[in-house]
Amino acid sequence: MGVNFSFEVAKTDAVGARRGLLATPHGTIETPVFMPVGTAATVKGLTQEALEQLGASIILANTYHLYLRPGHELIRQLGGLHQFMSWRRPILTDSGGYQVFSLAELRKITDEGVRFRSHLDGSEHLLSPEKAAEIQLALGSDIAMVLDECIETPAPRDKAEAAVRRTTEWAKRARNYVRECARRNGEIRQWQFGIVQGATFSDLRRESARQVAELDFPGYAVGGLAVGEPHAMTCDMTGEVAALLPADRPRYLMGVGRPEQLADYVTLGIDMMDCVLPTRAARHACLYTSEGRVLIKNARYAHDRRPIDPACACSVCRRYTRAYLRHLFAAGELTAAILATHHNVHFYLDIMRQIREAIEFGNLAKFSSEMHARYVAGPV
Ligand SMILES: [Zn+2]
Repeated sequence: MGVNFSFEVAKTDAVGARRGLLATPHGTIETPVFMPVGTAATVKGLTQEALEQLGASIILANTYHLYLRPGHELIRQLGGLHQFMSWRRPILTDSGGYQVFSLAELRKITDEGVRFRSHLDGSEHLLSPEKAAEIQLALGSDIAMVLDECIETPAPRDKAEAAVRRTTEWAKRARNYVRECARRNGEIRQWQFGIVQGATFSDLRRESARQVAELDFPGYAVGGLAVGEPHAMTCDMTGEVAALLPADRPRYLMGVGRPEQLADYVTLGIDMMDCVLPTRAARHACLYTSEGRVLIKNARYAHDRRPIDPACACSVCRRYTRAYLRHLFAAGELTAAILATHHNVHFYLDIMRQIREAIEFGNLAKFSSEMHARYVAGPV
């Protein structure tokens, strides 16, 4: 396993932020990277052409949604997820676990896996570590995640302990399942990442990191954070874990974050992030700009001839006014969500470009404090 894959740290700054290259069979990703979320094999509001134009080097797809609809077997028969959705660049799939824990009904968790009812039609399914790996192999994503146990926040200590134990057991089984598939079928063109859990208990986080790192995954994710705890707590836990993960493997902080927080996580040694925020906020008329948030439905923009963000080079800002965007949202036009999403994703990817540059020049701390200063003020 691992042919055509590599990760190389090209530069580490004084505090531990890293710039690197993650090579996959579908292309090389510059890290740190932000991955737009393409839940059901589409990033809501964007075509694949638009994503390419925006410079997205990798997207995330959700195993839970694709397993239920249209089904991983259908996607496999149609040539895998890349061919199915006509996206030639890298794809990371999650394990489906997070959605099972947050969307599905009648969940029952045992050591075997999670039994649940589909939120679509009520049908019953079992998601086990092996099944989550099997689905992702059928999808053919470049990077697959192991099934982990996600628990609510704040979690009592005994529950968090049990989830750490189960997450490690499940990681072992997922790793063995893929190794067995490789023995039977030959080379597997997919990297599998382990996941660290442990809620907001730093000793459990450290223990989970040690246990999962022992399994020798090519990359590691930090899960179960940014789920309602204060940002400082997310940073504390991330820092604890990142310090214990092998320096030569990519580190992925799952489900983050707000624009001004991205640099904080990179400062802690994170290489990969994903979040629905830029796309979801866009559909709710919340635009991110270099000066802070613009809530475009506000009446004050009715006559505003300026672009969403005068400092933005995206094709939406080069062409359309705030007044026009506001009108589209007020009229409930589809184009409103499309244009807003385009801008927000461009804004996130541009932050990552600036972060990579700041690592190169050793001024990430300055970039980070400027971002926080602009966003603390609230909507502009
Ligand atoms: Zn723009």
